[in-house]
Amino acid sequence: MWLINSSLHPAHAASSISSSYMTTTTTTTTITKPLSGGLENEGEKLEKIFQQWGEDIRPEMKEDIHDPSYQDEEGPPPKLEYVWRNIILMALLHLGALYGITLVPSCKVYTWIFVTGLSITAGAHRLWSHRTYKARLPLRLFLIIANTMAFQNDVYEWARDHRAHHKFTETHADPHDSRRGFFFSHVGWLLVRKHPAVKEKGGKLDMSDLKAEKLVMFQRRYYKPGLLLMCFILPTLVPWYFWGETFQHSFYVAALLRYALVLNGTWLVNSAAHLYGYRPYDRNIGARQNMLTSMGALGEGFHNYHHTFPYDYSASEYRWHINFTTFFIDCMAALGLAYDRKKVSKAAVLARIKRTGDGSHKSG
Ligand SMILES: [Zn+2]
Ligand SMILES: [Zn+2]
Repeated sequence: MWLINSSLHPAHAASSISSSYMTTTTTTTTITKPLSGGLENEGEKLEKIFQQWGEDIRPEMKEDIHDPSYQDEEGPPPKLEYVWRNIILMALLHLGALYGITLVPSCKVYTWIFVTGLSITAGAHRLWSHRTYKARLPLRLFLIIANTMAFQNDVYEWARDHRAHHKFTETHADPHDSRRGFFFSHVGWLLVRKHPAVKEKGGKLDMSDLKAEKLVMFQRRYYKPGLLLMCFILPTLVPWYFWGETFQHSFYVAALLRYALVLNGTWLVNSAAHLYGYRPYDRNIGARQNMLTSMGALGEGFHNYHHTFPYDYSASEYRWHINFTTFFIDCMAALGLAYDRKKVSKAAVLARIKRTGDGSHKSG
C-alpha cells in the first residue's frame, strides 16, 4: 500500500498541465446589481450567459460559469480505456478501509476526518476553485497542508477539473459527466483515461489566478513526496507514537479509512448530488439538492444552488444549515483569517427560483 502515489489519479496518468492573492476587509459582499451593463468587452456570448445567471458579484473569475453554448460533437459514445494501476490501488484502499471500520471503536480519528474534509470543501473547492472568499496566509497554509492529507490531486489540478465540471457540466468535457451513470461520476472517472474533450477544454481554462499563487504552485511542485508523507506516513505514525494506538489501528483507520471516507464524501457531490434530489433554483441543469450529500460532504449537497450560483461562499442559499464548511469559514472570518465572502442576495435568489426553478422551493 505504501506504493500508492499520485498516479492513483489518472488525471496524472492521462494529462498534466501546469501565486499572492491577497487583499483586505472582513465583510460579506452582497451585491444585488442586475447583470446588464459593464460587460461590453467580454463579448456578446458572455453577456448572454451572465444575463441568464442573474448577477455578477465576483467579476474577477469567470471560469466556473456554465457555458451552455458548448455542446458535444456527434459520434459514437466514448471508449473506456482502463487505468489498471488505479483500479487495483483503489480496490486495495477500499479493502483496507473496510477492515479499518472494524477497528474504529478503539480509535480517535474524527478530528482528522473533519480537517481533511474541510481542506477540500473550504480549500480546494470554495476558496481555490471558485474564489468565493479570500483567505489570509495562515488559513491558506492550514488548508494546503490538510489538502495534501486529502490526496485528491494537487489544488491546481483539482480546481482545473472542477472549473471544467461547472463550465461544461454534463458534456464530454465534464470530467465526471453524470450522464454516464452513478459509478462513473462517483469513482469510475478516476479509473479510466480522460475523455479527449476534458483535456482539450480543461487545458484552455484560465488558471492564471492559481498560477500566480505561490503556495498553490509550491504544493504542486512537491506534491508526490508531500502526499506520501501527509496522507499515509504521518497519519500512521502520529497516533501510534503520541497516543499509543497500535501501528495496525493507525494505518488502517487514521490513514486508509480516513482517506477513503473523505474521498467518498467528496465523490457523492459528483454522483448522488447530480442524480437524486430537487432542482428548486434551475430545473434545466443536472445538479440537485441532496441533503445526504450535505451531511457526508460538510455542506456541499445544496448542489442545484451551487451550480446556479457558483460564486456564493456558502454553496447554499442558507448559511449554517447542514453546512459545517460555512460555519468554519465564518469562524475564520471572525478571527480575521477569511474575508470578502461573496453571498448572493435573497432578491436575486428568489427571482431565479421564479424564473427557472422546478417549483419545489418553499417560497414557490
Ligand atoms: Zn463547485
Ligand atoms: Zn457538480
